[in-house]
Amino acid sequence: MAKSAKKKRSRAGKRRRVGGDPILTVRPIDHDRLVAAVREVLIALGEDPDREGLLDTPDRVARMYEEVFSGLSEDPARHLEPIFHEGYDEMIALRDIAFYSMCEHHLLPFTGRAHIAYVPNGRIIGISKLARIVEDFARRPQVQERLTSQIADLLMDGLGAKGVAVVIEASHACMTIRGVKKPGSEMVTSAVRGLFKRNPATRNEVLSFLQQRL
Ligand SMILES: [Zn+2]
Repeated sequence: MAKSAKKKRSRAGKRRRVGGDPILTVRPIDHDRLVAAVREVLIALGEDPDREGLLDTPDRVARMYEEVFSGLSEDPARHLEPIFHEGYDEMIALRDIAFYSMCEHHLLPFTGRAHIAYVPNGRIIGISKLARIVEDFARRPQVQERLTSQIADLLMDGLGAKGVAVVIEASHACMTIRGVKKPGSEMVTSAVRGLFKRNPATRNEVLSFLQQRL
């Protein structure tokens, strides 16, 4: 008992927080452990993990998890290297950033589009970096609400922006293939910071702009 508790502690000890990000870890994903766990799931389901069709499944699923959770060891702040443009203080927006993520409650995918707008305060980043930031945060066990606010907070704090607005529209496999089984339904979340938060008229304007259908 004491031995296993100690073992657990030393494993947890390897987990190191990076920066202010409470989720980011530099602990590498344990491939062999994932393979063994997926094999266990198959056995628990009453399947034969050694039959031909399932033989490579644990390894395949482990590699898939390594890919879809690769954001656990990536620091999205690395995309913030700013380009300085003293004069520009108008809104910059990027709409329809496609992403996929994994719901942390069911380990099922949720996929959709993120829309981002910010008003810089002398520092801007390349527009493609916005998509990279979304991707890093999405490739973790996530909930849509947190994904939305993490993107907003990083741009607000990391760039010192005057205002940030993020809208995410996504459909969740855990809503469509199980539970209430409502295919076609989309969840919409938004996060506003700075001047978009302070001024209700500006907030409504940016939120409807971001959700506009072309
Ligand atoms: Zn879910």
